[in-house]
Amino acid sequence: MRLLDGKPIARDIRAKVKEQALAYRANGVIPTLLIIIATEDEQAAWYVRSIRKAAEACDIKVHLTELSADAPTEMIADALRAAAIDPMVHGILLQTPLPAGVKIDELLSIIPPQKDVDGASPISAGRLLYGQAAFAPATAEAVLTLLDYYNVLLPGKQAVVVGRSRIVGRPAAHLLLERDATVTICHSRSSDLPVSTRTADVLVVAAGKPGLITSADVKPGAVVIDVGTNVTDDNRLVGDVAADVAGIADLTPVPGGVGPVTTSLILQHTLTSVSNLLATAQALQH
Ligand code: NAD
Repeated sequence: MRLLDGKPIARDIRAKVKEQALAYRANGVIPTLLIIIATEDEQAAWYVRSIRKAAEACDIKVHLTELSADAPTEMIADALRAAAIDPMVHGILLQTPLPAGVKIDELLSIIPPQKDVDGASPISAGRLLYGQAAFAPATAEAVLTLLDYYNVLLPGKQAVVVGRSRIVGRPAAHLLLERDATVTICHSRSSDLPVSTRTADVLVVAAGKPGLITSADVKPGAVVIDVGTNVTDDNRLVGDVAADVAGIADLTPVPGGVGPVTTSLILQHTLTSVSNLLATAQALQH
């Protein structure tokens, strides 16, 4: 069965992003992504490092605002408010997990939708749901980007999404629905997961549970997108889908599947944001 590699997709996206970033730089605009991190979580740190490396390779500048792992809501809010009005900042990422007890919805609401390159704010989520211009959460968009690249037809297909988080499962389900798939969402309280997953022509797994889905849970010939990223005790990155699934279904690898596409889409969104913000500034001058 096919290995649905994300790396060639990431390469294509990044090549275009770099070309555009260099064109903006030639005109004196430095595309800039600001990342706020307030955690000592190793996986979050790894994710931020990988975005930074990819951004810098594409000539996008990264500003990292590192706050302590017990930073209060107001401190993070101040950093977000400063970034929201800073004309030199085009994209804003608020890395999770956040310190225990902070008011996450309040914080996400501060990110202006124009700069919300990971579609994390309630405003972006609402706009996406209503079909209005908004950045989709990059991981959910990466799922659709992979399916399109590998020519997976969606209209009328049974799509099952395992996971209902606001940043991955729900938006992935929404985007699949927008493409006319018949969508089922499963979650930790679903009573018989394999009964649902075995109906899937397209199975998207975003639970954060290594080995949750094995070949016994998958319809032969299905397309399986493994969003999960889990760090094992011996420090390897594994998905939620067991290796035996590759014998009966098309499968994305972990690492090298959804991850690099997600990172590339964050960069692509940052460039789109540069373009939108410049157009708005120009319109205000006339
Ligand atoms: P989350 O913890 O917020 O949500 C997990 C979801 O899985 C929940 O909705 C829960 O109901 C469901 N779930 C948990 N156990 C289950 C079970 N046994 N059966 C059915 N459903 C179950 O996590 P998230 O932020 O949505 O991320 C999900 C996974 O995707 C994680 O492994 C995360 O690291 C990974 N992730 C990867 C990328 C990427 O770019 N590759 C980006 C974001 C998240």
